[in-house]
Amino acid sequence: MPIKDHMNNPVKTSLLKVLLFMLLTINMAGCFQKKSVPEAQASMYWLEDKTGTMTFDDILKQDLSTQWQAAKHRYPNFGFSSSIFWLSLPFENKHAIETPMLLEIAFPLHDKIDVYLVDSDKVVANYHTGDLLPFNSRPLNHRSFLFPQTVAPKENLRAIVRLQSTDTIYLPVKVWKSHDFFAADQNEVFLLGLFFGFLSIMLIYNLLLYFSTHQKSYLYYVFFTGAIIYFQLTQKGLGYQYLWPEKTFFNHMSIPLSAFIAMITSSLFILNFLNLKKESHAKIIFTLKAGIGISFFIIAIGYFIPYEILLQLTAVMGAASALVPLIILANLSFRGNQSAQILTVAWLFLLNGTLLFVLGRLGLQTQMFVTENAMLIGSTMEAALISFALARNIKKERDARMLAQESALKYERKTRETQNSLLLLQKQTTQHLEEKVKERTHKLETAMLSLTKANCKLDQLARLDGLTGIFNRRHFNQQIEYEWQRTRRHKEFLSLMIIDIDHFKQVNDDYGHLFGDQCLIHMGAILKNSVQRPEDIVARYGGEEFVILLPNTNISGAHLIAERVRQSTEKLRLDYRNKQVQFTVSIGISSMIPRQDSSTIDLIASADQALYLAKERGRNRVIALHNAEHRISKKPAINTQHTVPQS
Ligand code: GH3
Ligand code: MG
Ligand code: MG
Repeated sequence: MPIKDHMNNPVKTSLLKVLLFMLLTINMAGCFQKKSVPEAQASMYWLEDKTGTMTFDDILKQDLSTQWQAAKHRYPNFGFSSSIFWLSLPFENKHAIETPMLLEIAFPLHDKIDVYLVDSDKVVANYHTGDLLPFNSRPLNHRSFLFPQTVAPKENLRAIVRLQSTDTIYLPVKVWKSHDFFAADQNEVFLLGLFFGFLSIMLIYNLLLYFSTHQKSYLYYVFFTGAIIYFQLTQKGLGYQYLWPEKTFFNHMSIPLSAFIAMITSSLFILNFLNLKKESHAKIIFTLKAGIGISFFIIAIGYFIPYEILLQLTAVMGAASALVPLIILANLSFRGNQSAQILTVAWLFLLNGTLLFVLGRLGLQTQMFVTENAMLIGSTMEAALISFALARNIKKERDARMLAQESALKYERKTRETQNSLLLLQKQTTQHLEEKVKERTHKLETAMLSLTKANCKLDQLARLDGLTGIFNRRHFNQQIEYEWQRTRRHKEFLSLMIIDIDHFKQVNDDYGHLFGDQCLIHMGAILKNSVQRPEDIVARYGGEEFVILLPNTNISGAHLIAERVRQSTEKLRLDYRNKQVQFTVSIGISSMIPRQDSSTIDLIASADQALYLAKERGRNRVIALHNAEHRISKKPAINTQHTVPQS
């Protein structure tokens, strides 16, 4: 999501301009600084002993005007050299009183320094020190090399310095009145305290930021600032004075080591802070990583190569590490990367400081506090600016977070709205569905009812005889079983009569089948009217045979009904082509109290047998067989017989 970059703000842009102006002012101050010479240093001479074999006595024998060379610069610089350099300069008290004086060599990294103070050819004092010896070898406990001597009024001594060093043979030598030196030193100590304090605060502040954010940029910044502090402490001689006074070798290696750590961490910082993309910045990433790789390699082999070469490598790599990132940052700045713009200014400060420092060393500038401490000021400003860039990143991230939060809230609101409308839709759908289900259920129930009714009707129809409208044989078969069981349980009589129309074949033959059917219909009606109880069952048994089942009716009751049927039939007259037609029936009755060991078959067979007898005995009569106690024998016992003469 694009974040509004607050560096577009004109106030912030002008801040960068103000910083650049400051940079220019510092340089101008360096260039046009008034000379502040502590004591006149005329007639300084130097002598190079290439073989390193000359003794102090040999030196004394050399004539100043012929063997020695007059120094052209106030602070001679012979570059890297394995020769031993001798320096001869006046150490004079121009005052009328005895004065404590100092010889200062303001470069704390020299390996071996011997100082002889001589009056004519007589040695008044001599000192042997250098950073290859422990710190306590120094005559005065100070970060620079200081050699004190109280000089009598108007006495003219000479100081002879022997210098051997793997570092640059740089000799910022000054003769001071002790009083003046310490007064001037106070100011420098104060300012050094200010710079180191500031850098330490930056380091701690960003370390805390790292702990709270876990962003690597802060950690690299902390290491970078740490490396700068380490470098400056060594360079100013403060590390050796206060932190590692016994560790000669460590002190010796500290300049290249701290410089390489600074190079590595600054490259790591740039890589991480600018968040460079692999695709679009492949060359830049490669260059920075190559620099890191080379730096690590030099650290690894540093112990095994000559110190001067190590220092020269450090100088070359240092220059590259200051220049290359500057080019990269400037390039990115022109492409509109605002983080890179701030870092560019920061790097300009560092580079500018280093440049002033180096120029000072080369004697091209007037020595003064600013140039001597240019690198310290430059790196402090750089640290401050980088910290500003980091802080700006915090703001950028906070803005991004807030924006993200806002959009998350918006999204959540939208989601909730959608959810609500979905719920509503679901509710409506459910309601609609419920109504539909209700409607369908109702329809189904109605259909089921109709079906049940239809089934009942069907069932009823299936139980009725189509012609006569009375029950059919199927229904009779069911009912006789049911009544059999019931009357058996209650030990009641169950009577059955079979009614058969006499000579019905003849009726059909004489009057036709349709008339025969009419007879059957009338027969059904007679039978129905002959019974009163609802449990009595009248059914057509088949053809012109009918049955009446009479539960809880004994043989005489059944006989009564049978007689009623016989007489009603006999009395019936049916019209056939103006002719009165009459027919009769024969009825067989059986009656019994059902028992476990008998069945409905027995009852039916018995009634059938009685009917057979009725037919046999002349028809139009009722024969009843009463056999409730016994199985029906082949020859049934005839209880009652009613014979009506045939018409
Ligand atoms: P019997 O006195 O011995 O009973 O003489 P019957 O002629 O009735 O003899 P049978 O029982 O052998 O004959 C029954 C006749 O009933 C045969 C058939 O023509 C007639 N029949 C059977 N069912 C029907 C019917 O549904 N309609 C008509 N019209 N006639 C039927
Ligand atoms: Mg028959
Ligand atoms: Mg018959």
